[in-house]
Amino acid sequence: MGFELPALPYAHDALEPHIDTRTMEIHHGKHHAGYTSKLNAAIEGTDLDGQSIDDILSGLDMSNNALRNNGGGYFNHSLFWNVMSPDGGGLPDGSIEAAINESFGSFEAFKDAFAKAAATQFGSGWAWLCVHPGGKLEVCSTANQDNPMMPGIGCGGYPILGLDVWEHAYYLNYQNRRPDYIEAFFNVINWREVSDRYVANK
Ligand code: MN
Repeated sequence: MGFELPALPYAHDALEPHIDTRTMEIHHGKHHAGYTSKLNAAIEGTDLDGQSIDDILSGLDMSNNALRNNGGGYFNHSLFWNVMSPDGGGLPDGSIEAAINESFGSFEAFKDAFAKAAATQFGSGWAWLCVHPGGKLEVCSTANQDNPMMPGIGCGGYPILGLDVWEHAYYLNYQNRRPDYIEAFFNVINWREVSDRYVANK
């Protein structure tokens, strides 16, 4: 049993120039692979072995640092690859477009809130777009590999879009220019995928 490193849904160089090839190779092949193997080590021989990652995170003992860091890292990156696409960017459409307008007033207001959450997360962490039951959207951020599903995290709802703001996600190409990386992310967001996740989890 255990979790497997999911394959990238596109080639390592597919998100150039927004996300560079070398970063994708290291980020997926080393970082995400590491979280996956350490997650498996943390659940091996426990009654968590065989549970879904959503169930593991939503029922997490927050004092279990190995599971918190590596279970979060496994889920977060699995989401991250899938909400990006070489055909991405542009404006959301379909169900998510209406939900963004309803929750934030406009796409620009959402983008400002999301970019601010990503830029102001101190140190390593993630910015999120989450959906609450009923369909209301929320933007928030978490530290390290924490995730909105974890108990008491103070960042509610189910994550349908996530942006990794650890330096390992952007430093090779952007050095300390996190705002440039955040802006570039908007050129590769796979809004079709985000909209599907919205519909499935609202
Ligand atoms: Mn990462």
